[in-house]
Amino acid sequence: MIVPAGLSYVDPHADGPWQAFVATVAGVAPHLGPLARLIDTLCRPKRVLIVDVPIELDDGSVAHFEGYRVHHNLSRGPGKGGVRYDAGVRLDEVMALAGWMTIKNAAMNLPFGGAKGGIRVDPARLSRKELERLTRRYTSEIGLLIGPDRDIPAPDVNTDAQVMAWMMDTCAMNTGTSATGMVTGKPVALGGSLGRDQATGRGVNVIGRETARRLGMPLHGARVAVQGVGNVGAVAARLFAEDGARVIALQDRASTVFNPAGIDVAAALAHKERTGALAGSPGCASIDSEEFWALETEVLVPAALEGAIDARRAARLRTRLVLEGANGPTTPAADALLAERGITVVPDVIANAGGVIVSYFEWVQDFNSFFWTEDEVTRRMDSILTGAFDHVWRLAASLRVSLRTAAFVVACRRVLAAREQRGLYP
Ligand code: GLU
Repeated sequence: MIVPAGLSYVDPHADGPWQAFVATVAGVAPHLGPLARLIDTLCRPKRVLIVDVPIELDDGSVAHFEGYRVHHNLSRGPGKGGVRYDAGVRLDEVMALAGWMTIKNAAMNLPFGGAKGGIRVDPARLSRKELERLTRRYTSEIGLLIGPDRDIPAPDVNTDAQVMAWMMDTCAMNTGTSATGMVTGKPVALGGSLGRDQATGRGVNVIGRETARRLGMPLHGARVAVQGVGNVGAVAARLFAEDGARVIALQDRASTVFNPAGIDVAAALAHKERTGALAGSPGCASIDSEEFWALETEVLVPAALEGAIDARRAARLRTRLVLEGANGPTTPAADALLAERGITVVPDVIANAGGVIVSYFEWVQDFNSFFWTEDEVTRRMDSILTGAFDHVWRLAASLRVSLRTAAFVVACRRVLAAREQRGLYP
């Protein structure tokens, strides 16, 4: 196996998302033929920018936050990937997230490289005005790297269309252009795409249906558990319920709610909207958060953060299908254990790719200043997503490897072929 050279700014003994990403990339080398000699290029980011983001708080004091923007690989096009605001954001995490974007974009055959950004901040502790100042200063600081043909940010954990509107406006003010194609996931009134806000959750649902059909497992009546009720988990849960599945458990950061007869998803989400928590949702019992991982289900959707399914939880899972709504929710050790246990895992780079596919459409629409109907958006998204999934499914069967390995093989072949054709500069 190819052992990638270390990076001075990453702890070689750490066991985090970047190590997980590199291990997956290195693991597919035997399937890459002569392109495997180029694999070290994927085991290091192209460039890393760390910025200080000072802002004036509402009380007049100044606070400093650490921000990042990482370009993992740009062989196939400009960088593309979201920006997350979270107290736990770290550089090695953003590097891994950028790497997964390289793989996701290539697996979907989108003309993008992989990038990601983040700020180490708990946005719940900031006022709306402070959040706006934070976003504008961060956007200015990473202005060195971003642009419609360089790197196009988008929403991720704890960022939304409003944050994208501030980012776009900041770029517009700094460059004196209208800047619509600078970011995606914008409000529709500012050049956003219809269907973008629902796209990631919708993609999880579409891939769930495709996989269930191939496994001969009816979704009607299937028990579904969803961890995370943000933009991804909430939409996916609602759509699985609409398919006739029984969503028996939902989990957010603070609580886990359970109803074996099926949760009224709309009512639970409305309850959370009103009270700030899932606990106390109509018809639901609260259960211990660890119990969630041992519930008997047909479908489990981790849609929160990396590393949610570690080896300990993987040993307890009682499900047939894991759909990775989050990025990197399964650790490599857990992944191996799930494969051994015959549990199908559809990796993040397929299961949650609906979002970036519609981001691609948004970018294309902005260039043309010609906007599509929601029906066109969803039809085209389904076609790219299901086509890519079918290709990966067949490759997994022919190579006798997991869906994750197959998706990485498809993507690494594309990225490294582009790298080879471009040649090494100078
Ligand atoms: N943050 C999303 C992801 O992880 C979307 C990125 C984008 O639309 O650029 O795929």
